[in-house]
Amino acid sequence: MSEIIIIGAGISGATLAERYASLGKKVLIIEKRDHLGGNCYDFYNADGIRVSKYGAHLFHTNDEDVWQYVNRFSRWYPYEHRVLAKVDNQLVPIPVNITTVNQVFGLHLQTQAEMKKWLAEHQIKNDDPQNGEEAALARVGKVLYEKMFKNYTKKQWDKYPAELDATVLNRIPVRTNFDDRYFTDQHQALPEAGYTPLFEKMLAHPNITIQLNTDYFDLKNKLKNFEKLFYTGPIDRFFEFKHSLGKQLEYRSINFVWQTHNREKYQENSVINYPSPKDGAFTRIVEYKHLTRQKHPKTTTSTEYSIPHLADKTEPYYPVPNPANQALFKKYKKEANKLTNIYFVGRLANYKYFNMDEAFKNSLDLFAKLELGKSPKNKRKKK
Ligand code: UDP
Repeated sequence: MSEIIIIGAGISGATLAERYASLGKKVLIIEKRDHLGGNCYDFYNADGIRVSKYGAHLFHTNDEDVWQYVNRFSRWYPYEHRVLAKVDNQLVPIPVNITTVNQVFGLHLQTQAEMKKWLAEHQIKNDDPQNGEEAALARVGKVLYEKMFKNYTKKQWDKYPAELDATVLNRIPVRTNFDDRYFTDQHQALPEAGYTPLFEKMLAHPNITIQLNTDYFDLKNKLKNFEKLFYTGPIDRFFEFKHSLGKQLEYRSINFVWQTHNREKYQENSVINYPSPKDGAFTRIVEYKHLTRQKHPKTTTSTEYSIPHLADKTEPYYPVPNPANQALFKKYKKEANKLTNIYFVGRLANYKYFNMDEAFKNSLDLFAKLELGKSPKNKRKKK
């Protein structure tokens, strides 16, 4: 008998499995897909180029415990992510910084003071933005909003920022200096051999049994004897969609269009965003060799198209944060809280877009709370 049952072998499930195995518990992981690592899964394609099946995953954290923890399972190389966006036939840095403003408006701002003044003259002040449009206008003003955010958001969410919660665009800051990094966290790195070997190492413990290609709901009735069960799948699926008349909680999914090119390099940056509808319906193009540092005469790109998520047909990626979805999620959460010895962990079970470090941290904190009697330390300063 397994004392601990874990549904899902992504970050949340693998972290709990590793921790419980280290306590001497017997752990069974049930994974629907044919591989470990959840959406972090990477592999070598037919041309021998390493790519990430579910899109690029950039690790960044300010949390020392998480950083120490992930370093136990892989060597990491420093990698500071940068993104360029195609605006008016130029490639400009996003998040908006001094260079972005200079390029888009043909200016020569040099100092923080000049950038702050420029922003103050263009921002549409709003102390309490009610939606994504008001939030973005308060940050970057009308022109940059129109050129960089409005239509990208429409492509990504099939909704204009005015129809979305302010939190969606708040993920993107504005810089008053020349810092063109996507993230500012202290630790920014990628695992040397990729994410899949990291998960293999986390789970290579004699106490851990992994059943791939197995849908938990086919086995549910046989799996009655356990000390604890951790469920990392979609929360509404667990309750058979009972509060939503059989409909899934709303997500956006991505259609990745893969191409391998007969040349060493395709584009000048790992990720190029395409906010303008004139450039096509896709949101961005990712070229993996920039991330992996792999030497290879060919190169693989994925062009990402945002699509609605359809149950059993596509993968759920981005929860759609609006009041109706939040209210529905709350009904399931209330139900989940009534269960004993069953825990809902991770992105899908919490209907929340987690950065990778948050997923590791939530599992580490839950384990510490349940088994070590510790409440979580909150050392995170910022995203
Ligand atoms: N966004 C945008 N233009 C961009 C990049 C992002 O309007 O060039 C908006 C868009 O609504 C997106 C949100 O900001 O969904 C968050 O972007 P982020 O890069 O964090 O999304 P992810 O990389 O996780 O898909």
